[in-house]
Amino acid sequence: MAELETFRRETRDWLTKNAPPDIAGLPANDLEGTWGGRKATFAVPGMKTWLLRMAERGWTAPTWPREYGGGGLSPAEGKVLTQEMAKLRLPPPLIGFGLTMIGPTLLQYGSEEQKREHLGRICRGEIRWCQGYSEPGAGSDLASLQTKAVRDGDDFLITGTKIWTSYADKADWIFALVRTDPTAKKQDGITFLLIDMQTPGVSVRPILLISGKSPFCETHFEDVRVPVRNVVHKINAGWTVAKSLLGHERSMIADAFGGGGGGQRTRMSALASLACEHVGGADGRIADAVLRDRVALEDMDTRAFSFTVQRAKDSAKAGHRPGPESSIFKVYATELNMRRHELMVQALGPAGLGWEGPGFSGSDLETTRDWLRSRGNSIEGGTSEVQLNIIAKRVLGLPD
Ligand SMILES: Cc1cc2nc3c(=O)[nH]c(=O)nc-3n(C[C@H](O)[C@H](O)[C@H](O)COP(=O)(O)OP(=O)(O)OC[C@H]3O[C@@H](n4cnc5c(N)ncnc54)[C@H](O)[C@@H]3O)c2cc1C
Repeated sequence: MAELETFRRETRDWLTKNAPPDIAGLPANDLEGTWGGRKATFAVPGMKTWLLRMAERGWTAPTWPREYGGGGLSPAEGKVLTQEMAKLRLPPPLIGFGLTMIGPTLLQYGSEEQKREHLGRICRGEIRWCQGYSEPGAGSDLASLQTKAVRDGDDFLITGTKIWTSYADKADWIFALVRTDPTAKKQDGITFLLIDMQTPGVSVRPILLISGKSPFCETHFEDVRVPVRNVVHKINAGWTVAKSLLGHERSMIADAFGGGGGGQRTRMSALASLACEHVGGADGRIADAVLRDRVALEDMDTRAFSFTVQRAKDSAKAGHRPGPESSIFKVYATELNMRRHELMVQALGPAGLGWEGPGFSGSDLETTRDWLRSRGNSIEGGTSEVQLNIIAKRVLGLPD
């Protein structure tokens, strides 16, 4: 305990000295620029300094081993770092699929060569990753995927189309599922492959969404040459790796949409402030009793959920890998987030009906568009119906 308190003091001192003044209070998620990569942009100049300083200390991935660019912190020290950053209102120096999905997967299944090639670059924010799972004919039934990989000496030649590839237009590398044995049972003929997006034959086409944004793309592969050494785990054993990565993805979604606070309490939630501003009220008491009740319930559920996620994170840091129970978190977190956005639009009243033009403030329009974006939450990372099937079968053990 005494050692941990010393670590806490030293961490706070270091953070206070090294966090640039312009980053305090920036949002913790979805902050453009903290995703890193060759095309990285930074919301404020201090974010770049923050990334460099934290990466040098290994604190972009605090609990990963030092030899791969992480901080080598114990789970307890990692938690202290998170707590101290939250107290100082410091955003994470780096977010993205490298840290949350492919990194943990490589730590478990990658070869030594793959870990040395990729993990350090992820920790330093040099390479941004995207996920090539879904195809036009393979979403929930992912094992039906058809993107084919044909062996040619020490390479594979990849041909096919992935769809809904989030941020493929901004990514440097993609982790993709490809079919290496079309004759085997569908789960058995799949291989997990790492592909540099700059390889000739890779092209991306952004897809415009109802929210007016274009966060994901079609990704095409035409005779793309990929070295066999980029196979993670074994040829035709990609389904095992794919499922493990999905566990990390669902935990990441749960964290981002409802559990990120780690039980931290703020005096008034953003939702309550917004409701007060539009419906009227003072000191957190929203004038409309029905809305007040719903906002209070939402805030309590969010806080309770954030404690539950914190508990799961502690156990993950202690070595417990996310299993099928990550589906429970995914369903609940996305429901919470969708409910929160519904309430925000309701609190806005007529101001929540804007799409563009005069009569609406920038933040009104943002709220409406974020609400539309939230509709995808119950689909991305595996739909709610599919998660409920997983919970029924693999958590509750119910019969088919
Ligand atoms: C915002 C967003 C980001 C995404 N990012 C990525 C990404 O980066 N990379 C990537 O590979 N994919 C990505 N996806 C794709 C996502 O994983 C798929 O959309 C999802 O798996 C569902 O597949 P589908 O769209 O083909 O729907 P389908 O599988 O065709 O499902 C259609 C409907 O049928 C239901 N259904 C299907 N099977 C069953 C069943 N067995 N039991 C009950 N109901 C069922 C579904 O729940 C759904 O309501 C993203 C999606 C969204 C919305």
